[in-house]
Amino acid sequence: MYRNPLKKTIEYLKGCGPERAKTLQAELGIFRYEDVLNHFPFRYIDRSKYYTIREIRSTAAEIQLKGQIISVNEIKMGKVSRLVAKFQDGTGTLELVWFKATKWQRDKLQNDLFKEVVIYGKLNEFNGNYSIIHPEVDTVEDAKKLPMGLFPVYPSTEKLQKRGISNRVIQKMVSSIFDENIKIEENIPQNLVSHFKMMSREEAYRTIHFPNNLDDLKRAENRLKFEEFFFLNLSMLSKKIQNKAKNQSHAFPVIGNYFNKFYNEHMPFELTGAQKRVIKEIRLDLKQPAQMNRLLQGDVGSGKTMVALLSMLISLDNGFQAALIAPTEILAQQHYNSIVEMLGDMNVEVALLTGSVTKKKREPIHENLLSGKLQIIIGTHALLEDTVQFHNLGLSIIDEQHRFGVAQRAKFWRKAKLPPHILVMTATPIPRTLSMTMYGDLDVSVIDELPLGRKPIKTISKTDANRLQLFGFMRNEIEKGRQIYIVYPLIEESEKLDLKDLMDGFESISREFPLPKYAVGIVHGKQKPADKEFEMQRFKRGETQILVATTVIEVGVNVPNASVMIIENSERFGLSQLHQLRGRVGRGAEQSYCILMVGGKLNPISKRRIESMCETNDGFKLAEIDLELRGPGEMMGTQQSGVLNFKIADLTKDKKILKAARTCVEHILKLDPTMSLPVHLNMKNYFIENLKEKVGWSQIS
Ligand code: ADP
Ligand code: MG
Repeated sequence: MYRNPLKKTIEYLKGCGPERAKTLQAELGIFRYEDVLNHFPFRYIDRSKYYTIREIRSTAAEIQLKGQIISVNEIKMGKVSRLVAKFQDGTGTLELVWFKATKWQRDKLQNDLFKEVVIYGKLNEFNGNYSIIHPEVDTVEDAKKLPMGLFPVYPSTEKLQKRGISNRVIQKMVSSIFDENIKIEENIPQNLVSHFKMMSREEAYRTIHFPNNLDDLKRAENRLKFEEFFFLNLSMLSKKIQNKAKNQSHAFPVIGNYFNKFYNEHMPFELTGAQKRVIKEIRLDLKQPAQMNRLLQGDVGSGKTMVALLSMLISLDNGFQAALIAPTEILAQQHYNSIVEMLGDMNVEVALLTGSVTKKKREPIHENLLSGKLQIIIGTHALLEDTVQFHNLGLSIIDEQHRFGVAQRAKFWRKAKLPPHILVMTATPIPRTLSMTMYGDLDVSVIDELPLGRKPIKTISKTDANRLQLFGFMRNEIEKGRQIYIVYPLIEESEKLDLKDLMDGFESISREFPLPKYAVGIVHGKQKPADKEFEMQRFKRGETQILVATTVIEVGVNVPNASVMIIENSERFGLSQLHQLRGRVGRGAEQSYCILMVGGKLNPISKRRIESMCETNDGFKLAEIDLELRGPGEMMGTQQSGVLNFKIADLTKDKKILKAARTCVEHILKLDPTMSLPVHLNMKNYFIENLKEKVGWSQIS
């Protein structure tokens, strides 16, 4: 029935049975043999060691004892009854307790009475009396049959425990699988296995469940980690190859008037080397009749907008429209303003479309997009609505990538006969290990250089005790003509409280910096877009010196004259958010400052965050630290975290293995893009059987 025995379901596995199978499915998602094998122990116990009751002191440790059960009692407690057995080993006695007495358990204990038994479990202490709850009890004869050496302890749940699916049961299921003598086929090309002196797949599975020693265990783990990274990369990179072959798009062979005129007459500055390189990479993609799927990473302030604009001009030069979509109104508005400003008197039709554009103004935009009169559209999610139709959309640029869901991005596909080229820009640097796995099927460009003449931002942390000093510093900076942001946290759970904090902060700042000498503005998410825009413009024009805000200004706001960023309760922000916020200053020629206000005592993690911020301005370095502190799932948001549920590999700890696996896969696919060589047959079969379906989550369009 099953060609691959690992695909057998567990109902009839010895030691399981249909009842337990149901529970295991519901609780741990274990359906098949392979799921049992992939249910790895999370630690191991050395079962060669026996304790004596006299020497035990510590509680909550798992111990193994040898002795006799000398009595078994059932104690009624209301509806349920519990079993209590007395155990002695010649050095003392302790109690063994089962909270729910079952007939099966009672009979078994009666049967074991006065025999030599081995008990195993977690020690409890209460008033100097020791007990073990739900211990495992084996006669010495039976215990001899247990695997020697390191004993596996499996992750479990309360329900499994209650239903009697103990560690022992799971361990027996694993043994039964090996007892069936099924073959676990190798899935990595044999030459690699030999080259790296890796354990075979079968040996690795046996060893990870029943290791003889720690060295073997390590080798088994490494083998399985390699395998996991290997196939992830294989799915990513083979998909990239397929995409290139399959997803046709329009070739943009021409660099024409729009691009050249802009480049020669309107460029406000010299491009950085990194910007030039990235534009070349994009240009090469766009020449091809295959869809570009490129991720552009660049730290805040590295100049991604200019890259976006130049790419859009290439689209225009080839007679196609271009769209730029941003996650917030403010950001869309700002992109619109700066792009219109940069284009100056160039004859390019640009429009802004956001949720707050009135119906009356919307209609002509819709019409002109459809007729092709509009060449560049900039906007928010509003661009994705079905009513927005294009004449010929050639390029979609998505700013600040991971605020958009995959489904939303997919909508761009349907807006053109052939899918448009896609450029995703993210200002949240992603550690290389993570981008390799998350976006392994995309091409990645990195702007790793800031425009010349930027002074590094000075970052310090301060407490409330320094507030007066802070006000003095602010006055000084304003005296010099600078402007200041003060940002308050705003998180959804306590939005009301936070809003109050923000308002209180605004009031006290307004008192400290009174009119008419000073002017203070405020922006937050609860304002009408028009009010927000009004306040932003006032600040931009320099009419307000201080802007009190929530994180609505986190993304992309650009006021070069603002040189001080004060972040209140900075311990409540994540590392990437802090870095984003800091990126709002340091955009002009002046020395800029970021002041992290911290309230109260910090937990070790917030402390590390604040310290890292003070130590470095490098977004990629901070991203690595963030990955360590939070783990990959958290870091990418819950939406995508599922794909990072590695069975055994760990992105933060196993970077070397990841790189090795990646390199191997690159080699293999270069040599054999369709995986047709006989040496790749096992690999291909495994890939098709297990991974093909899972591919697709990082596809951006
Ligand atoms: P981000 O990558 O964060 O989106 P922006 O595109 O907003 O950065 O650019 C940040 C600032 O740097 C803007 O004021 C922009 O005009 C300026 N800028 C971009 N590229 C250069 C450059 N090559 N030389 C000087 N200034 C530049
Ligand atoms: Mg930007």
